[in-house]
Order: sequence, then structure tokens, then C-alpha cells
Amino acid sequence: MTTTDVLQKARLDGRTLLNEVESKELIRESGIPVVETRLARSKAEAVRIAQAMGLPAVLKIDSPDVVHKSDVGGVKVGLESAAQVRAAYDSILSSTRATVPSASILGVSVQKMAEPGIEVILGATKDPQFGHVIMFGLGGVLVEILRDVSMRLVPLTARDARVMIREIKSLPLLQGYRQYPACDLGSLEEAVLNLSQFLEKHPDIKELDLNPVLCYPKGLVAVDARVVLEELSPA
Ligand code: ADP
Ligand code: MG
Repeated sequence: MTTTDVLQKARLDGRTLLNEVESKELIRESGIPVVETRLARSKAEAVRIAQAMGLPAVLKIDSPDVVHKSDVGGVKVGLESAAQVRAAYDSILSSTRATVPSASILGVSVQKMAEPGIEVILGATKDPQFGHVIMFGLGGVLVEILRDVSMRLVPLTARDARVMIREIKSLPLLQGYRQYPACDLGSLEEAVLNLSQFLEKHPDIKELDLNPVLCYPKGLVAVDARVVLEELSPA
């Protein structure tokens, strides 16, 4: 599916929330590296996709009613065999059904397991007055507890991107600390600029979250994505 297909399909369905597979498809167009992800609608399909992509795999619940997939037991990482993929599929469905009985379940997304890296967040929201604002910060619980994030209005200059990445308090963690390898700040700047250009092309994006983006000494990859479109204003 192309980007236009993803957006058109959501609009035709009257949806503003894109699922993880659609969100990643859309964001891939920005040039930000995204982990390969496909939707499986049965256990057998999940195994086929995982084997075609190459193990290890990650499986996740795909439901418009589940925002934090790990909170409902909806994420299984490091699956090394077909048997593990099958077991993960069952466990994800049963624990989502037990935690959110009313959840409508579209399927299970199957993705490549990315190498471990430093987890950062790259996100955007649309302010009714100022337009898109890009947010950057460390990923995971750290960002929630410390609220250590930086923000800039779109469009960003190269200097904005450079400064916004370096102004968070946790910068030393990204520069390499004890067992933590350094994070490729150049790739992060490029991702921020790509996101800025992408948002300019898509004014109808209301919220966008890449959480986490895994950062490596060289390069990075987004492993989770969520996009919400604006409601269409009545013509
Ligand atoms: P949630 O909806 O809970 O935010 P995520 O998709 O972010 O779910 O997955 C939770 C965690 O699992 C991530 O923070 C990351 O550490 C890990 N993870 C998710 N997808 C992958 C992947 N494709 N490769 C490696 N790790 C992953
Ligand atoms: Mg996430």
C-alpha cells in the first residue's frame, strides 16, 4: 500500500486512528527507518510472516481499543521459533481479551526484532493555532517521570534539530555512559528534519508518536508507531 492508499482507506472507513501497520507504512515515506511490520489475521499467517521475514520476531496486539499494548500483555519480543510465535499469538489474544473484554481485535502485527538500542521518543501534535509541534525525549518510563523533552514548531531548520536533540537534560545518556553505547546524534537530527518535512506534507495529521525509536552508535529504527488524523471538518 502506498501512503495515499493508507490515508484514503482510513478516510473511507471514517477512521481517524491508524493502526500500527498503517502508521508505519505512512511514516516510512518520511525517510525515517521503520522496522518491517505486517498484520496477521490467524496464527498460521503469523508464523508464515515471521518465517518469511526471518526470526527472531516480535508479535503485538492490533486493536483500536488498546493504546498501551504492553500494559495488556499485548507485546511479545524475541520469538526465536515457529513454536514460540504460535505460543505468543495465543498468549497475546487471551491476555488482551482478559484485560479489555470489549476490545475489538483486528489481528496481531508481526515484525522483525530490532537490535537493542537506546530508546527515544519522537512525536508530534498539532496545535490549533501554531500547527505541528515536534517533541523529542528519552523513551520509556524516564520520559514519563522526568518529563525531559524538547519541542519545536514545524518547519524546523537544521540548527533547530541540532539544538533540540542536545538540550534535553538526559543528553549524557545519548552520548554514551558506562554500559550504554553512544547514540548516533546525526541520524537523530536527520530523523527530526525528515519528520518536519513529512508533517508539512500532511497537514491533516493530528498526533504522531514513534515510541520508541531505537538508537544505535550508527543509525536508528522506529519499532512502534501511532498516527491519529484530524476529524474532517464538515464540508
Ligand atoms: P506499547 O504499545 O506498549 O508502547 P511497543 O510497541 O512500544 O508497545 O513495545 C513495547 C516495547 O517492546 C518497546 O518499548 C521496545 O522495547 C520493545 N519492542 C517493540 N517492538 C520491537 C521490535 N520490533 N524490536 C525490538 N524491540 C521491540
Ligand atoms: Mg510504544
